[in-house]
Amino acid sequence: SEEIIIRAEKLSLIGELAAGIAHDIRNPLTSLKGFIQLLKAKNTEYVDVMMEELEHINYVVNEFMTLGKPHLNLFETSDLPSLLNSVVHFMTPQARLYNVQIHTEMDGEIRLIPCIPDQIKQVLINILKNAIEAMPHGGIITAAIRNHQGQSVICSIQDQGVGISEEMLSRLGSPFLTSKSNGTGLGLMICKRIVECHGGKLSFHSHRNQGTTVVIELPVLQPVHA
Ligand code: ADP
Ligand code: MG
Repeated sequence: SEEIIIRAEKLSLIGELAAGIAHDIRNPLTSLKGFIQLLKAKNTEYVDVMMEELEHINYVVNEFMTLGKPHLNLFETSDLPSLLNSVVHFMTPQARLYNVQIHTEMDGEIRLIPCIPDQIKQVLINILKNAIEAMPHGGIITAAIRNHQGQSVICSIQDQGVGISEEMLSRLGSPFLTSKSNGTGLGLMICKRIVECHGGKLSFHSHRNQGTTVVIELPVLQPVHA
C-alpha cells in the first residue's frame, strides 16, 4: 500500500543521510588513526586508550554505513538455508571462543526468497552475535528454518542466555538501546530496518535467565502464473 511505500522512502532517506555522514566521518578517522600510531613510541598508555576509542567510533560508523544501501535493483533470488549455513560457518570460530555451539535445524529444502543477500547475512550475523553475547558461560544456539503456509519462510534463532527484560523487549530496535558496556545499540535497529525493507517481520520472545528466541519471517518467491 501507499503507506508502506512512504515508510520505505523515509527509511531509505534516513539511511542515505546516515551513510553520508558516516562516510564523511570515516576519512578523518583513518587519518587520525595513522597519526596516533606515530605517537605510540612516546606514550603507549594513553595511545592505547585513544586507539580503543577510535576503534569504537569506527565500529559505529561502519554499522551506519550499511544503512544507506537498500536499492531495489540489488534484489536477487537466494536460498535462505544456504545464507544461514554460510553465516553459521563464518560465526563458528567466535562462538567457540565463548563455548557456544550453533546447531541448525533444516529439512534440506531449498527456500527461495527475493532479497539482498548481504543484508540478510548481516541480519543473521547481528542476531547470532547477540545470542553468543547473551551466554557468557556458553550454551547452545539453535537456528531453525521452516516453511510458513507456503507464503513465507521463518528463521528462528534461539539461545539459552540471560534473556531480555519486559521493559527492554518493548523498545528493541530503537537506536542506541544497549545493555552492554561496549555495545552500540545499532545491531537490532539495522536488522529491523533490513527485514522491513524485505517485506518481512522481526519478533522477539524472551524469558529472563532462560533465553531468547528471535523470529525472522520473510516472504518467499511467489510462482509466476501464466
Ligand atoms: P548491542 O548488541 O550493541 O547492545 P543490539 O541492537 O544488537 O545492540 O541489541 C540491543 C540490546 O538488546 C542488547 O544490548 C541486549 O540488551 C538486548 N539483546 C539483544 N539480543 C539479545 C539476546 N539474544 N539475549 C539477551 N539480550 C539481547
Ligand atoms: Mg548486537
